[in-house]
Amino acid sequence: MSGRTHARACPERTCTGCRERAAKRDLLRIVAVEGVCVPDHRGTLPGRGAYVHPASVCLDLAVRRRAFPRALRVQGPLDTADVRRTIEAMAASQAAP
Ligand SMILES: [Zn+2]
Repeated sequence: MSGRTHARACPERTCTGCRERAAKRDLLRIVAVEGVCVPDHRGTLPGRGAYVHPASVCLDLAVRRRAFPRALRVQGPLDTADVRRTIEAMAASQAAP
């Protein structure tokens, strides 16, 4: 409705944490590999992917809601330590003074 037609070229995904839609390239893709959530920076890992903002608030929301097992169609808990480390590293590198 906003007259901005070029947005169409950019695929959108829903953040698993805050449930807001965002451009795919602004979200971090997560895949489950043997019970562990693995951050997929290049979007090349096979299998079902979940998308989350690279922000710890969104990761916390997703973890609290147990949204990753649901989104990734996996039974049981998923280890998100790797994703958290990645998100914290991304946030640190973006926080320029
Ligand atoms: Zn989010």
